[in-house]
Amino acid sequence: MVEDSEDDAYLLYSELSKAMSGVTYVRVETSEEMLAALSDSDWDIVISDHSLPSFNSLEALGVLKECGKDIPFIIYSGKISKHVAVAAMNSGAQDAIPKGDFARLMPAIERELLGAEVRRAKKLANDEAHKVAFYDSLTGLPNRNLFCNYVNQKLSLADTRAAAVYYLDIDRFLRINSCFGPKIGDDLIAQVGQRLQECVPEEGMLARLGSDEFAVYLGNFIGDEQAYDAAERIRQAFARPFVQGALEFELNVSIGIAVSSRNGVDAAEMLICAETAMFQAKTLGGNTQQFYKPELGIVAREKLLLESALRGALARQELVLEYQPSANIVTGEMTGVEALVRWCHPQLGMLQPDDFIPLANEIGLILEIGAWVLLTACRQAKYWHDAGHPELTMAVNVSAVQFWQPGLAQTVFQAIADTGIDPRCLELEITEAVLMRNADSTITTLQAIKSMGVRISIDDFGTGYSSLSYLRRFSIDILKIDKSFSRDVTRDVASASIVKAISALAHGMGLVTVAEGVETEEQLDFFRKHQCDRIQGFLYSASRSATDITKMLGMQGRASGAGVRLLSSRVGEILTG
Ligand code: C2E
Ligand code: MG
Ligand code: MG
Repeated sequence: MVEDSEDDAYLLYSELSKAMSGVTYVRVETSEEMLAALSDSDWDIVISDHSLPSFNSLEALGVLKECGKDIPFIIYSGKISKHVAVAAMNSGAQDAIPKGDFARLMPAIERELLGAEVRRAKKLANDEAHKVAFYDSLTGLPNRNLFCNYVNQKLSLADTRAAAVYYLDIDRFLRINSCFGPKIGDDLIAQVGQRLQECVPEEGMLARLGSDEFAVYLGNFIGDEQAYDAAERIRQAFARPFVQGALEFELNVSIGIAVSSRNGVDAAEMLICAETAMFQAKTLGGNTQQFYKPELGIVAREKLLLESALRGALARQELVLEYQPSANIVTGEMTGVEALVRWCHPQLGMLQPDDFIPLANEIGLILEIGAWVLLTACRQAKYWHDAGHPELTMAVNVSAVQFWQPGLAQTVFQAIADTGIDPRCLELEITEAVLMRNADSTITTLQAIKSMGVRISIDDFGTGYSSLSYLRRFSIDILKIDKSFSRDVTRDVASASIVKAISALAHGMGLVTVAEGVETEEQLDFFRKHQCDRIQGFLYSASRSATDITKMLGMQGRASGAGVRLLSSRVGEILTG
């Protein structure tokens, strides 16, 4: 209450208290007192006398405006001319009511309180909508929209000095997400956001663009050298490890740099250039920064083209499976095959999995591709089983990204049901990375798959970080010793002793061992001597079409019938010639 009479104020307070509960007030007589009262707490309404000894209602309105709060203002005064009332309403007062006229005052107060509440609710909703449209919910940082608006605004202020846009992408972050789960991934992203914020000055801007990607805008550069040093400082923010519970993560970041004077006229163009340069930094092994160069655009375009072609490859039936046989190391008989996917690209020719499976993992397309591979492989195995080779095993690769998506067990179940394959002949090859994420969901998924009778093998064993105790814990059936060991067993004593130790322990645990990538007779002898169960590699056979495998199986039937061991290295000659 802006009021010089204590009695009038109290009278009004008593009347108000009759009409509503919880009324409190403070009486002020000067602009200083009013300002102090307004900043002290959140008042719902100001009721002001018009003329006080050293203050008046118009001045009081000015004080309210100055403090910036949206509070209704009602003039409540004995002697007030129409002229003053109009002037007050024009300067923002909501009403002017003669002193003592409670019949008019009460409804006016109620109306204004409601109006203010509605305005506040609307403002809150607007603030929320603004937040959603311009801020990232995980980190609280500006998002791409706000970043682009800000950068465009800065660029429009004709400034002779250069500005730079940095595109940041954390190296191998997908692996953290797939090994430790999205919750830990999110927490790390939030920490990265905080850490980056510390090294971006006030007049710059940091934004989160999505997943593990951030953008930084910095202005006022004299030259490239300064822009480069700034990127170096951003990378230094990652020097200390990130801590998540009991875990410590060493993260690195790859940075692409676009400079305003030559890489684009607006934020969107600069971001594209910076992203392209970031890909180049990744290609160089990551943990580094690169300036955009026009020739880089070509590589990025190629990746985009490959991505869009891959999205349509399944529908256009461009994917095919080849099968690489594995053999019993003692009898030399084919015991099973591994399905390996190839892409017959209409322009680029036959692409190997290493050319497109990483991309498929990155863009999530591996789920569709994986489901197709599984179904096709099971159907083919069923054909061979029915054709007189009921024991032949079919190994199918499952990437970590595939494994972590919900629904893998269902996909496997469906493939078995749809094709009628004997599940005991199906082997799913997973990698050590899958076991490394030591989660309940890993066990649940493995148990669900194993309960169908399907067997689990660890592919490329020895290249990851898992230990033999993991194998027992997850009740793995088969161990495929990575081809890098096979290559070295006859040349390098250390590799030889590792393989000896692995096979001895694996046998002790009742696991079947497969030597991958066996190319020479010496390697074969080594693995035979150390009681490896099966071999797979070019010495026995490279991967072949289903038709070729059918022929090989046919010959094997005749050869073993005659008591002759099939000499693996001749298979190729027989088939081609
Ligand atoms: P992998 O599962 O370890 O498959 C064995 C790879 O080693 C195959 O390469 C095979 O051609 C090659 N290889 C076989 N014998 C020898 C040998 O004696 N010497 C040498 N140097 N190499 C040999 P490929 O077909 O290029 O496959 C590469 C990888 O791609 C596979 O490694 C597997 O991890 C992945 N992959 C293949 N098909 C699929 C699939 O359908 N789904 C998924 N998720 N991954 C797949
Ligand atoms: Mg494999
Ligand atoms: Mg392998």
